[in-house]
Amino acid sequence: MIYDRNNIFARILRGEIPCKKVYEDQYALAFHDIDPKTPTHILVIPKGPFVSFADFSAQATENEIVGFIRAAGLVARQAGLDDSGYRLLANHGPDSHQEVPHFHIHICGGRPLGPLLA
Ligand code: AMP
Repeated sequence: MIYDRNNIFARILRGEIPCKKVYEDQYALAFHDIDPKTPTHILVIPKGPFVSFADFSAQATENEIVGFIRAAGLVARQAGLDDSGYRLLANHGPDSHQEVPHFHIHICGGRPLGPLLA
């Protein structure tokens, strides 16, 4: 998988374009989705150059994977979603309709979400 260094999330990581940041550490950056589908819709991205979940799960170091997952859990908790609940989504490849080729998970919550893919 060839990583496009000019994808929009790479540019956000480099500070070239702004984002509404909610969290950052050495492994992850989290910010509000620009087109939220739920009252809370946060994207969490790893700092490293990974195209998608397939790439990240195969190529990231254990520290990067643990750091990213812990950051995502913290972001959801800090967003106040632990009690009401939330959905994690990660798209990989054409069938999934992945639009941005830098691995990210969506944290969606703030209302009842209904069945998956309804
Ligand atoms: P995906 O289809 O999983 O690749 O999701 C990409 C997500 O990125 C969509 O929900 C977009 O609304 C969101 N998005 C695109 N550009 C930006 C941006 N500049 N800042 C925040 N979110 C963005």
